[in-house]
Amino acid sequence: MSECLDHCLICGVSRAEVDAVRRRDHYTLGCGIESNTESGFDYDELSPRHRWSPWSDKDLARAGIKSEAFEKYRTADSMTLQYAACDDRVRGHVIVSEESAEFAGLRVGQCWDCGKQIEREASNE
Ligand SMILES: [Zn+2]
Ligand SMILES: [Zn+2]
Repeated sequence: MSECLDHCLICGVSRAEVDAVRRRDHYTLGCGIESNTESGFDYDELSPRHRWSPWSDKDLARAGIKSEAFEKYRTADSMTLQYAACDDRVRGHVIVSEESAEFAGLRVGQCWDCGKQIEREASNE
């Protein structure tokens, strides 16, 4: 996949901005702190690198997205991906159980994530 985006999918900063700051102030804006520091710390492990290309199937699968919804999230930013609609995720809705409904202030059979009331009878369990 050679397509290149003009902004980072993780931090949302544009390539032009990152380049400008790198040239002017010699550091990397947003995520992806580079590891060529004199102190030798490898910040790459602590911070993700900029993501300039659309997510691969593997990335999307790792994020829990259903294969049918891959194209929908191909260039979604990381927050959107993290809060993808229940219907687009492999795990689907997360139904509130009787034990947790009371302290969570939710109704039994409601989804933790989207708040939708899921018919208990409709679940295949
Ligand atoms: Zn970034
Ligand atoms: Zn849901």
